[in-house]
Amino acid sequence: MKESIEENDMSVTVEGYPYKYEVHMHTAESSACGKTHAADYIAAFIEQGYDGMIITDHFFHGNTAVDRNLPWEDFVEEFCKGYEIAKAEGDKQGFKVFFGWEANRLVDEYLIYGLDKAWLKAHPEVRDCPHDELFKLIDSEGGLIVGAHPFRERPYVPKVNLHPLQVHAMEACNFGNPPYQDAFAYNFCKDRNIIMTSGTDLHDVKNLAGAPTGMCFAEPLNDISDYVKRVKSGKGFVPLIPEERKKITPDMKNMLPMFLYDEKNIGHPVELEDLGLK
Ligand SMILES: [Zn+2]
Ligand SMILES: [Zn+2]
Repeated sequence: MKESIEENDMSVTVEGYPYKYEVHMHTAESSACGKTHAADYIAAFIEQGYDGMIITDHFFHGNTAVDRNLPWEDFVEEFCKGYEIAKAEGDKQGFKVFFGWEANRLVDEYLIYGLDKAWLKAHPEVRDCPHDELFKLIDSEGGLIVGAHPFRERPYVPKVNLHPLQVHAMEACNFGNPPYQDAFAYNFCKDRNIIMTSGTDLHDVKNLAGAPTGMCFAEPLNDISDYVKRVKSGKGFVPLIPEERKKITPDMKNMLPMFLYDEKNIGHPVELEDLGLK
């Protein structure tokens, strides 16, 4: 499969999969770390040759910009602002904008798609339920849950928790990660036939031009349920993953303790060797 940088728009594309979407990004309205205001993304995405984007702001236990003391329904209403402003501007400019969110459960992060504002308002239990229950809930409601940047090591992350059995897919490539963390994630997924996604984790529109990440589809996505169905099927798309983020080299080492969770959601300490990543 050939990836190419097209001269006119600088966007990375894959032959046979011409419809490109960003599926992990944040707005200044709803994420405390978001730099770009929702409406300011649209023109840049169109210019870079994208067909759509999915806003995934940090939710309640993550780096949300929303006051956590608000009553639940008001919190949800405020939280959806980033998406709603982007969607309104997207509608004006003829660009697809879909809704998702990034949930933080005891430092692990999950990208959730296919459920909307009304659903969130009606399901306050989604806020605090432990990860295995979150997976069951989202799954039973027809949503998609993707383990975000599973091998990420950052000051805010005390350990790496791997939950291959409690997600539908994993983010094998995250442009916010250094390459070694993606190389571990990519090979972990590949060896286990875990469906992979790729996201830019965009917080600032300045980092969009030429980003090597994103999801390319053979057919366009008409709504968020198209995204959910196709990712769950594992077919009809290619996650963009640069070659240097696929290959594990001898110098690549993890710094944090790692835990692999079993079907009962019990974590077992593991090393790279145990995971076949060395
Ligand atoms: Zn952030
Ligand atoms: Zn994110």
